[in-house]
Amino acid sequence: MTHATIPGDKQLMEKYMGLQQPNDGIMCEYIWIDGTGEGIRSKCRTLNEEPQKPTDFPIWNFDGSSTYQAEGSNSDMYLYPCAIFKDPFRGGKNKLVLCEVFKYNKTPAETNRRKPCNEVMERAKASIPWFGIEQEYSLLDYDGHPLGWPKNGFPGPQGPYHCGVGANRVYGRDVQEAHYRACLYAGVKIAGCNAETMPAQWEFQVGPCEGITMGDHLWIARYILHRVAEDFGIVVTLDPKPMEGDWNGAGAHCNYSTEAMRKDGGVKEIEKAIEKLSKHHVRHIKAYDPNKGKDNERRLTGHHETSSIHDFSAGVANRGSSIRIPRQVAEDGKGYLEDRRPSSNCDPYSVTEVLVRTTVLDE
Ligand code: ADP
Ligand code: MN
Ligand code: MN
Ligand code: MN
Ligand code: MN
Repeated sequence: MTHATIPGDKQLMEKYMGLQQPNDGIMCEYIWIDGTGEGIRSKCRTLNEEPQKPTDFPIWNFDGSSTYQAEGSNSDMYLYPCAIFKDPFRGGKNKLVLCEVFKYNKTPAETNRRKPCNEVMERAKASIPWFGIEQEYSLLDYDGHPLGWPKNGFPGPQGPYHCGVGANRVYGRDVQEAHYRACLYAGVKIAGCNAETMPAQWEFQVGPCEGITMGDHLWIARYILHRVAEDFGIVVTLDPKPMEGDWNGAGAHCNYSTEAMRKDGGVKEIEKAIEKLSKHHVRHIKAYDPNKGKDNERRLTGHHETSSIHDFSAGVANRGSSIRIPRQVAEDGKGYLEDRRPSSNCDPYSVTEVLVRTTVLDE
């Protein structure tokens, strides 16, 4: 098996990475979401001046027939730069640039969920929606087996691993540490991180982010995660139930508030929002994974700190409900709610869009 991180490789790389980069050669990594709605693709080009805003980047294109996005006979797709971050892999003035995908006829690609999300966020701007997403993920070996698990068996049952410390409790902390630093460097609004309930499962949080920036920051944080793990020769999966059996799945809890919810007495607004959410459970489930609820079926079983995919429920400090009001929020009488339903592989643009549609725009 070929392995990306043969010791020594990285040392050899230093020789080249140490070469001085000319001032008029800025490397810009264009990043987009492929036709699966969860896969990330990227390619790089040189700009002669440091770009400052998305419109400083030229619109570019790619071969959509190789990314599940177009037929070979009409395969050119357009990349419209929409959000810039510093490149933590190349450093210097180099950039990561997140792009929206458009088809040959300039209509948005099916998996360009940012465009409709942005329209909704514009219309709901006055409510000042904030989001914070808890991204859970699992680390795997090249063979698809969870990192650090015995090859011919299982680790001991869940219990010691959540927020665990020690070589027999957590597997792959280096990935998390490197990712945290890289996100801070890039300008991603990363809020924190922890080891999760299943061994080799981790979480990081991004937020609070206003409106469209939630999706932008989370997608770039995911790009950075896959890219960091690549350096370590470790595979990241956002599958919502990587291991069948008595092992926790992976979610992307979405914490959400409007200005009214954050003000004194805002818990009344939170309750109103929950009432509205209760009437649109199916619509939300369809928006909470890239396969219209199919992926989440394996995860939202009513066990392992989840609610059943078939029922809507809400409660204070209840981690077995669809919506949880954090205990502190109930005590303060204001704050935010937590929607526990989104799958780890959800598109945050779809999740935040439908939350605002249901609770602010009453659609
Ligand atoms: P949990 O207790 O469910 O594990 P975490 O601490 O992992 O919660 O994540 C909480 C998330 O909620 C963080 O990303 C944080 O940025 C976000 N958050 C905090 N306050 C608000 C708010 N008022 N509106 C939206 N999100 C918020
Ligand atoms: Mn080519
Ligand atoms: Mn959390
Ligand atoms: Mn968690
Ligand atoms: Mn949570």
